[in-house]
Amino acid sequence: MKRLSRRRFLTGSGAIAGAALLPGESRAAVGAAPPSYDDAIAVLYDATRCIGCRSCVRACRSFNELPPEEREIEGVAFDVPTRLSEDNWTVIQLYRQEGSDGQPAGADPRWSFVKKNCMHCNVPACVSVCPVAALQKTDAGAVVYYEDRCIGCRYCMLACPYQVPRYQWVDRMPRVRKCNWNRACVKACPVGALQEGSRAEMIAEAHRRIDESPQRYVDHVYGEHEAGGASYLILAGVSHAKLGLPSLPTRLRSTYAEPILKSIPGLIIGLGLFLGGLYRMEGRRRAVEAEREERAGKETGP
Ligand code: SF4
Ligand code: SF4
Ligand code: SF4
Repeated sequence: MKRLSRRRFLTGSGAIAGAALLPGESRAAVGAAPPSYDDAIAVLYDATRCIGCRSCVRACRSFNELPPEEREIEGVAFDVPTRLSEDNWTVIQLYRQEGSDGQPAGADPRWSFVKKNCMHCNVPACVSVCPVAALQKTDAGAVVYYEDRCIGCRYCMLACPYQVPRYQWVDRMPRVRKCNWNRACVKACPVGALQEGSRAEMIAEAHRRIDESPQRYVDHVYGEHEAGGASYLILAGVSHAKLGLPSLPTRLRSTYAEPILKSIPGLIIGLGLFLGGLYRMEGRRRAVEAEREERAGKETGP
């Protein structure tokens, strides 16, 4: 596939109309049965093992050369990001149950850490809507971003059901930012809360843990089926809804991505034709003007 830079994309209606033909890889997948990605690399995050140390966050920063998000607490600066952002590609959040919520009096409050980042979906809505294939799902499971292709339309931000892609609003040449699946976080985890293996193995391992300790886990491997499944899987002791993870159907694209995807080529071609029309009208106007001036010159001549 031919590469298309942002500058080239914006320099003419021909390029714009041509870009409508680009997302062949994305569109080829529409309507096909979702692939299982059984052999792709998956990461299993076990929230019940997580101690909230944020070594994973630091490893991500260091590997991707992302600046810290400094916050002063009692005069001391800490790097404790709470939300995903252009510079925070993974965050550790804390859920703490307020009140008794049906628990016996005196019981410990229920709480849990949760690690958020790109889910690396099997059927990524972000890939489906990207008109220039700047986001692609690889056979290894990752959803990767090619910034030299990106035209900054931000459809991916709209389409992602997890609100993962972030935009560099203040940059001169803004890019979309999100986890690119280098998995520096997995190596950095000191307690084995993050484990890496084939997707089939990680799903089997998650169910093994639930079967072995049903009192420890909610019986749900988040990411196994949500939105067609993902390469990032989450096990937890409290419900995923409480951890801020959305409840999603197994097939998502038909509801969210496909209508957007279908409208993109038409919009792009329409924009191309519109700009082409403007260009031709302007050319015609100049020619008529020049002709009129020439005629006026002859009439007032010596
Ligand atoms: S979580 Fe969002 S950004 Fe990540 S692959 Fe899925 S749709 Fe794309
Ligand atoms: S902003 Fe998102 S959807 Fe648009 S071109 Fe860039 S990666 Fe693709
Ligand atoms: S490094 Fe491991 S234990 Fe520490 S916050 Fe990250 S996932 Fe949790």
